[in-house]
Amino acid sequence: MIRIGIGYDSHRLVSGRPLILGGQRVPFDLGLAGHSDGDAVAHALTDALLGAAALGDIGKLFPDTDPRWKDADSLQLLRQAVGVLRQRGFAPLQADITVIAERPKLGSFLAAMAEALSGATGIPAAAIGLKAKTNEGMGFIGRGEGIAVIAVATVEAA
Ligand code: MG
Repeated sequence: MIRIGIGYDSHRLVSGRPLILGGQRVPFDLGLAGHSDGDAVAHALTDALLGAAALGDIGKLFPDTDPRWKDADSLQLLRQAVGVLRQRGFAPLQADITVIAERPKLGSFLAAMAEALSGATGIPAAAIGLKAKTNEGMGFIGRGEGIAVIAVATVEAA
């Protein structure tokens, strides 16, 4: 049986943090705030995969009150979440991700993000859709206050 999950994440852009998206360090003067490395792409995909398996969300698996996850590499959290899925008999098949950011331009990083997400999930890079778009200047994203990510993933239940 094929099951579908959706994930959403947003993080505030702040100074003094590196910008990590999809496991890539993107050159920019601001980075994403967060208990972990703030990688909203990895977080949204993690939630989509967990959601497809009805296994809760990333906050349930890796509470931000736990010092173990302070500045954690979110690709490793994603990898661990996939491990939980596989233990429960679910295999990730495919994902589609939209990053919504006014700045910086992310187009040239998408292929590397897909490769990194593939490495963490076992989903072939060719089955990971990644798009970047702006919010046309509207709202918190448009004002450059933060970045949001929407992800959809499918898993096969054994
Ligand atoms: Mg997050």
